[in-house]
Amino acid sequence: MRVNPSLTARLRIGFGVLFALLLAVSLLGVGRLFQIRVNYEDEITRYFQLELESERLRAAFILEQASARPAIPQQKPSRAELDRAATSFADAVSRARGFAGSDAGVNVRVDQLASAESAWRRSVGEALLRGNLPPPAGERRRTSAVTTAGDALSNSARNGRDAAQDEARDDTRNTTILVAAGLIGGLLAALILFTGLINSMRAPLGRLVEGARRLAGGDLKTRVEVGGPVEIATLGNAFNEMANSLERDARERDRVERMKDDFVLTVSHELRTPVTVVKGFAEMLTEQRKSLNSTQYEAVEVIAESATQLQKMINDLLDLARSDAGKLRIEPEPTSVRSLARRVGRQMRPHFEERDQRFTVSVEKDLPDVEADPDRISQVLANLLMNANKYAPEGSEVRLAATRVREEVEFAVSDEGPGLGEEELEHVFDRFWRAESGETQSVGGTGLGLAIAKSLVELHGGAITANSVPGEGATFRFVLPIAKDGRPRRATRGRTKAGAAG
Ligand code: ADP
Repeated sequence: MRVNPSLTARLRIGFGVLFALLLAVSLLGVGRLFQIRVNYEDEITRYFQLELESERLRAAFILEQASARPAIPQQKPSRAELDRAATSFADAVSRARGFAGSDAGVNVRVDQLASAESAWRRSVGEALLRGNLPPPAGERRRTSAVTTAGDALSNSARNGRDAAQDEARDDTRNTTILVAAGLIGGLLAALILFTGLINSMRAPLGRLVEGARRLAGGDLKTRVEVGGPVEIATLGNAFNEMANSLERDARERDRVERMKDDFVLTVSHELRTPVTVVKGFAEMLTEQRKSLNSTQYEAVEVIAESATQLQKMINDLLDLARSDAGKLRIEPEPTSVRSLARRVGRQMRPHFEERDQRFTVSVEKDLPDVEADPDRISQVLANLLMNANKYAPEGSEVRLAATRVREEVEFAVSDEGPGLGEEELEHVFDRFWRAESGETQSVGGTGLGLAIAKSLVELHGGAITANSVPGEGATFRFVLPIAKDGRPRRATRGRTKAGAAG
């Protein structure tokens, strides 16, 4: 089983180990320094005592000499005093041995001193006590052997003190270096630990960020490789679950959309035939005016008008449904802009006349052909012109202009109607959207015409836009690509008026 501790557990373990490590190093260091200090003080005291004892030994030996050879010539040497001095010398020797401890050098000096003193006592002290004068050279030698051994002991004690001092200094330095190394090691371990921790999170977090970006960009197939500490692994799993559910929802939405499109397509298609029949018969009846009384005639006229509106609505719905289903087809061919304008102008003239509007068409000289489906582009133009006709007031002017703009031909329909506000312009190509103003509401419409116009223009590889200053009219522009062999058409006149009314 792979152990994967959580982020908090990792941090806790990391901090715990680090804390224990630093505490151990600090305690060991402080303990060791304390021990060095104590040892140093013990050693210094021991060697001071030793020096003291060597002084005592020197004094005891002087007493021994004084008791064997009194300073006043009449006074006799005293055995009792010599014995007392010798005892005090022996006591000092045994104390000095105690203080020497394991210091072999000092022990040797003490032994040398003790044996020199006992040699002096045997050959000099005893001889004097018995009243014999020892040979002066021998006495001098024995005495100086004791003095020299005493000096050597003093020196050894002093040297021992110095050595203890040096040793304490060296130990303190070494311990300080070791503690510092331990602390640095601990900090390095912490650094490695935290770097490892950060690295263990960085890769899975990076994958999550990248995945979120791809998902936000619309790639619903995005999944991330789950890894890292438990918390991040959980986040990774949650991300994948979210992506699964988003993909599922998107599939479901697509399925419902397709069903809706199919439904609208089928229904519109099925409605077309009966509506055409109703319209045909109603129009036929309106032509037989004589055989109808006035009420009947009016009714038939209303039927014919309503059937026409219904037929347009069904055709619009059918176009939109086809566009959604990707079944809206166009048959582009090199098309003369002038003949397009003429055809739409002819078709629209009665509507402008009816509202007393002036309708002007201007086509730039030598315009090349556009690559367009003439029926569909006529439909777009008719829609724009119909809107201008509907929404602009009676007696106003409506213009249709075609000009070349770089490698495209631009069509512009302008009117002097109520126009559209900035916010309205954002929605004007949305399907079923209609402005809320009284002018719009008083005119009939479905809000589908511009959505279809946009689909058709885009199918041609063009683009459509709307500009307006509220209260001063609106201009709808769209561009179409120039046909591949789009030779400029010869124009008989410059800017021509293809149709005018009003
Ligand atoms: P419809 O005209 O059937 O309502 P459209 O899609 O053609 O649908 O137009 C959508 C809406 O845009 C209209 O309802 C109207 O509010 C606004 N609109 C379109 N053309 C113009 C125009 N020339 N002047 C002012 N508003 C317009």
